[in-house]
Amino acid sequence: MEKSSEHLLQGIHCAAEIIQGAKRTVVLTGAGISTRSGIPDFRSTDTGLWSKYDPFEVASLESFRYNPEKFFRWIRPLVNGIWQASPNPAHLALARLEQAGYIQTVITQNIDGLHQKAGARNVLEVHGTLQTLTCVSCFSKYPVAGYIEAFLERGDIPYCERCRHVLKPDVILFGEQLPVRIWLKAQEVSKRCDLMIVAGSSLEVLPVAGLPMRALENGAHLIIINQTPTYLDVRADVVFHEDVADILPLIAEEVLKNAH
Ligand code: ZN
Repeated sequence: MEKSSEHLLQGIHCAAEIIQGAKRTVVLTGAGISTRSGIPDFRSTDTGLWSKYDPFEVASLESFRYNPEKFFRWIRPLVNGIWQASPNPAHLALARLEQAGYIQTVITQNIDGLHQKAGARNVLEVHGTLQTLTCVSCFSKYPVAGYIEAFLERGDIPYCERCRHVLKPDVILFGEQLPVRIWLKAQEVSKRCDLMIVAGSSLEVLPVAGLPMRALENGAHLIIINQTPTYLDVRADVVFHEDVADILPLIAEEVLKNAH
């Protein structure tokens, strides 16, 4: 056996043991968990999404209010990709572990809904969701279902049926607060967990990147699976610099193999 794969196996065993020993496990996921599903990071400057636009300009609350047409033109290909995407082995592995009682909560920075599509139940979407829209004027809420087809096919902008103002997708834009109740819940479960698993997040976007610190301060274990190093690698029990879609299925297999 090669040294690197032996090292990897040790890591898998170690991670599985920690998961089996934990009582309240929280998973924090970021854009890296959805790249295998073909979804680019909506906040990352490395993707084509930003090549024609300045992110802080087009995806900010202020510019949405000033020029919603431009925002909807920008977000249309992204929404189209998300609507066609399927969960990958990483989402499915987490859903299996949740169903088997090994994961209590998933906190996600993603807006793609792929955890839910994979069967996860307890998901906190701290950067919002594309599933609902809110009127910028009267704050009426609408499910996206009635609007999404016309938007994807013709670029039709959604308007409020009550007051005719534009509807904003409930995704968190630059300059916008995180959804209060969800964010409070995310902080609470992070403080109370005895294991946090970071999966596909480089822990660069605040304030979400601070959640694993809350867990560590209360003595929780930490497992990190991310292609690139994070600021908390030195504090983690186990670190994998690999694709989560490769690693999480192996860990889930190991945990569930020994389950009784
Ligand atoms: Zn309205």
